[in-house]
Amino acid sequence: MSYTYNDKIKKCFTNGFKSGGRCFFNIFYMADVSIRYVKGVGPQRANLFEKKGIRDLMSLLYFLPIRYEDRRVIKSIGDLQYGRKQVVVGEVHKIAVKNIGRRKIFEMILRDRTGYLSLVWFNFEYQRMVKRFRQGLKLLSYGDVRFYNNLAQMIHPDIEELDQEDDNSLSFNRIVPIYSVVEGFSQRVMRGIMRNAIDKYAQELIDPLPVQVKEKYILPGLQEAIYNLHFPGNGLSIDALNNRGSIFHKRVIFDEFFFFEMAIALKKQSTMKKNGIIFSVSNDVVKRFEKNLPFTLTKDQRTCVNEIFKDMSSGYPMNRLLQGDVGSGKTVVALYAAMLAISNGYQIAFMAPTEILAEQHYKTIGNLTKNMGINIALLKGDISNNERKQRIDELSNGTLNLVVGTHALIQPDVKFKSLGLIIIDEQHRFGVMQRMELKKKGNNPHTLIMTATPIPRTLTMSAYGDLDISIIKELPPERKHVKTYLFYRDSQRQEIYTILKDEMKKGHQIYVVYPLIEESDVLELRAATKMYEELKCVFNEYKVELLHGKIKDEERNLIMNRFRTGESNMLVATTVIEVGIDVPNATVMLIEHAERFGLSQLHQLRGRVGRGSEEAICILYAHGFTKDSKKRLSAMVKTHDGFKIAEIDLEIRGPGEMLGVKQSGLPDFKIANIVSDVDILKMAKDAAFDIVSGDMHVDKEALYKHLYDSYKKNVSFIEV
Ligand code: ADP
Ligand code: MG
Repeated sequence: MSYTYNDKIKKCFTNGFKSGGRCFFNIFYMADVSIRYVKGVGPQRANLFEKKGIRDLMSLLYFLPIRYEDRRVIKSIGDLQYGRKQVVVGEVHKIAVKNIGRRKIFEMILRDRTGYLSLVWFNFEYQRMVKRFRQGLKLLSYGDVRFYNNLAQMIHPDIEELDQEDDNSLSFNRIVPIYSVVEGFSQRVMRGIMRNAIDKYAQELIDPLPVQVKEKYILPGLQEAIYNLHFPGNGLSIDALNNRGSIFHKRVIFDEFFFFEMAIALKKQSTMKKNGIIFSVSNDVVKRFEKNLPFTLTKDQRTCVNEIFKDMSSGYPMNRLLQGDVGSGKTVVALYAAMLAISNGYQIAFMAPTEILAEQHYKTIGNLTKNMGINIALLKGDISNNERKQRIDELSNGTLNLVVGTHALIQPDVKFKSLGLIIIDEQHRFGVMQRMELKKKGNNPHTLIMTATPIPRTLTMSAYGDLDISIIKELPPERKHVKTYLFYRDSQRQEIYTILKDEMKKGHQIYVVYPLIEESDVLELRAATKMYEELKCVFNEYKVELLHGKIKDEERNLIMNRFRTGESNMLVATTVIEVGIDVPNATVMLIEHAERFGLSQLHQLRGRVGRGSEEAICILYAHGFTKDSKKRLSAMVKTHDGFKIAEIDLEIRGPGEMLGVKQSGLPDFKIANIVSDVDILKMAKDAAFDIVSGDMHVDKEALYKHLYDSYKKNVSFIEV
């Protein structure tokens, strides 16, 4: 399939930057020109490139080297120094397969005027090697030099065959680019093609960055950057190039971030231009709600409420992310906002990611607003048509003040009389588009998004760049750190069971979580069930129950309720209890196969205990480790700080993999990396927001035109 650049951009936007829709922000006709017209390419090689996803000139120019080799100095064999990477050029003198102990090695002796060098391969295919190398062939060899039996030696060197008459200046006496392998041709051919492409087309690249930005952030011009990234000048630092730390890397990374941040800045500005519903803050519904609360707000909660109230009375629609660790008490903060909306005669849509959570919120809200005359409903997926119709009628005629539900709330027949506030719990489960759908049901309603997966600073800066952020840092008083233990030996089972028994003796309750990769996986389910049978046996004087995704809603609710009320002592569950469940009397979380869970998931699970005033324990039981799972588990033991955990998670998994980021609206940056390039991200964001706000004076028209051309087909989306 071939599509044009505009289609790509369009795809990016309509998919909400879901990964897969790759984004290039630097566009012009080059994106429409096939690379087959580049000298040295042609239809056949174009097909080979296509396999790498390179179809047009633009993607060819941005196909950057994966590393660089320092071939500024070609050494004579006689001058080679021990322990350093060096390049020599010589002629094949001898080829041999040798036996060393039980191993076979392939050895090739290279010679020049000054001596002999042994090149050694431990892994090789004999046929291929003899076909490739023959006596007298001129070669370039690059590698770490050591000495063996008084002979200089390189093990598994990088080899490049040189034509007899070819003194190809692209491969010598310079820093040489090495590209990710394109099957079917060598580095040398690749370099030739790149050279042709760059010589002919790089000068046609239009630099879209305003001069002021380049000056302020010390960025080179685009053409210069592209040129040097492929064929670096001899004065550059090889280390900087190889660490993506050169000023030219900085430039292309900056570009990717900058145009993305521009889009976000404009989006934010356009929201700011809209009229928001102005809520009056002095009112007694909030006061009555406050009196109902069995606790007082923490300082952070209070601050967040104030920030939210300020937004809701500002005249602009609120777009706020309420970020707080598991158990920090976000729900009650959101309910303050709800009370303000109700007292001003508006309705609230409260969206949760799962039915269990929706139900729990529904109950919590009911409890906290008892006797206040507020009408709350739960809109579930499985209610009868009649009941559903009734709920929807009550919503559209204004009888209902607040509705809780899952994404079922987005369905077209759900209409509100006056939707004034949207509350979304656990944002990462929902896409940007779903957020927008819900917004359409009101007239610029205020939006509050809660997230318990603490989103690292880097992500809030990018993906959530159009949101204001409130943070709850401190946990409610008396909340203690959950003691976390890591076990991994069968012999430790008894020890674990003793802990569980002791806690149940004290009247406390226990979660045992068993991972199911797929809720539908029969084998996995059987393993979980077996585990449950065993626990039932071991703890036969207690009530142990099993909860998994296959259990019907009705039954599931009964099980949950028995646990909530303390009727059952131990709940063996698959990850259906992952988010949000709140049973303060539960003090132990035992996680089986802890190595299979992601870090943020583990943190979420741990957050299910330690919600009351009692000491709580989290036991991680690992059945074997990988390097990554070891990192995750030791992070869990070491720290309780959700933000730190999120940072570590991001480090281990990379941004693309992080829970929910895929849906969060972050583009798949080609060159930039939001973790390692966070400093550049910050600059790009500052630049974009300064330009949009007018703090930095640039030729906006040219810049906007560039942006506009890029997003032509989707102007309504960003509403420039
Ligand atoms: P989360 O932020 O994880 O969604 P919740 O809103 O579920 O957390 O709150 C966790 C628990 O803490 C609830 O039982 C809630 O009633 C309680 N809580 C919230 N705020 C406070 C507070 N200021 N003091 C004491 N308990 C609180
Ligand atoms: Mg919650």
